[in-house]
Amino acid sequence: MKTVVIGGGPAGLISAYFSALGGNDTVLIEKNEKLGKKLYITGKGRCNVTNDCTEEEFLENVVSNPKFLMGAIYRFSPDAFMSFLEKKTPLKTERGNRVYPLSDKASDITKCLESYLKEVGVEIKLSEKVLSIDQKDGQICSVTTEFSKIQCQKVIVCTGGVSYQSTGSTGDGYAFARSFGHTIVEPKPALCGINLKGDFYKSLQGISLKNVKLSVFRGEKEIFSDFGEMLFTHFGISGPIVLSASSYLNRCNLSDITLKLDLKPALSYEQLDARILRDFDKYKNKQIKNSLDDLLLKGLIPVVISASGVKGDIKNNEFKAESRKKLVEAIKGFEMRPYSLRDINEAIVTAGGVSVKEINPKTMESKLVKGLYFAGEVIDVDALTGGYNITIAACTGYVAGNS
Ligand SMILES: Cc1cc2nc3c(=O)[nH]c(=O)nc-3n(C[C@H](O)[C@H](O)[C@H](O)COP(=O)(O)OP(=O)(O)OC[C@H]3O[C@@H](n4cnc5c(N)ncnc54)[C@H](O)[C@@H]3O)c2cc1C
Repeated sequence: MKTVVIGGGPAGLISAYFSALGGNDTVLIEKNEKLGKKLYITGKGRCNVTNDCTEEEFLENVVSNPKFLMGAIYRFSPDAFMSFLEKKTPLKTERGNRVYPLSDKASDITKCLESYLKEVGVEIKLSEKVLSIDQKDGQICSVTTEFSKIQCQKVIVCTGGVSYQSTGSTGDGYAFARSFGHTIVEPKPALCGINLKGDFYKSLQGISLKNVKLSVFRGEKEIFSDFGEMLFTHFGISGPIVLSASSYLNRCNLSDITLKLDLKPALSYEQLDARILRDFDKYKNKQIKNSLDDLLLKGLIPVVISASGVKGDIKNNEFKAESRKKLVEAIKGFEMRPYSLRDINEAIVTAGGVSVKEINPKTMESKLVKGLYFAGEVIDVDALTGGYNITIAACTGYVAGNS
């Protein structure tokens, strides 16, 4: 059966391989001059290709529609994906079970997938943009590109989202899906920095924090919390735990949201209070603002003191227990208000896309038109950092290709 795969990212490469392996005459069309342009920049050029975890753990890291992915991830698990890659490229596992090519070169993952395609005779057309997918009597019949019309019975749309558009992911798949009546869940930035209200962060720009806890509250309810690293930037905050938080904020009314930063998560309120008392004793007769150097990074001290509402220039031996309580609260619950998320083009992934309600999870086939399939980021699924997003592309590509 003639099958056209649109897009040469991980979803397209993997679905094209399994389609051809199953005996289909398969053509992969990529509008860029080379395959895997986005893959090339993943993991800071090292490509965190998957996560060495169980299927259950994998699904816990999927933010949108984990249930839809359940069947696909059990059929092509992180373990299966690693074995598949390792036949051609050695891998290594780092902190957080993040898996990378041993060479630390993202291009080796693309080379590995390209070599699989050659083995099964997939025809690859580069520098050719697909303009439309055509149907006749509710069945796919052809694909029209800038240069030709290709008759086919099946099409797999693997065009990605709308983030980092210079890599080719410009949302063309949404237009194809819409032309068949598919619903597109509004694309939103995920895994991105957060613009903050106010301007206190400007004095903190460049400060990076380790071992801190960031919690997201909608009203009184905590909707997300993570422990790790983050940094202050010219616009607000970024870094690993902030990226994760953004994925839970992109469908929220941000005026209801408060971000709370615990700068000393390893200490309880009582322990922190005792620690401050010890430091005050050590720096006897000094002003508060000059007594916290052992506890906090220098740049943070004036901002934390200001947030606590206490006066920084009073001497620490005149500091009352009540004021100390305020200081402890500001250190363990430093409040920040999000203004907006960074632009979707800067986001690591796009949340939203083709609604999963209109895709059969067992085959990735459209429920609206026969012969039309979707795989990868074009679908309304997204996950946290750690190799999960490429694996989503891989497992949905595997299912679509095999169908
Ligand atoms: C900076 C950055 C770092 C990342 N790091 C990681 C990481 O380390 N680990 C991880 O798991 N994920 C990472 N991701 C996310 C991951 O790259 C994506 O989720 C993944 O590439 C999605 O794969 P895909 O095949 O669905 O889409 P894409 O990789 O976006 O591929 C889509 C392809 O379709 C082509 N295309 C689009 N429209 C047409 C058309 N009309 N005709 C022909 N071709 C078309 C595009 O040119 C593109 O090559 C990162 C993303 C970014 C931006």
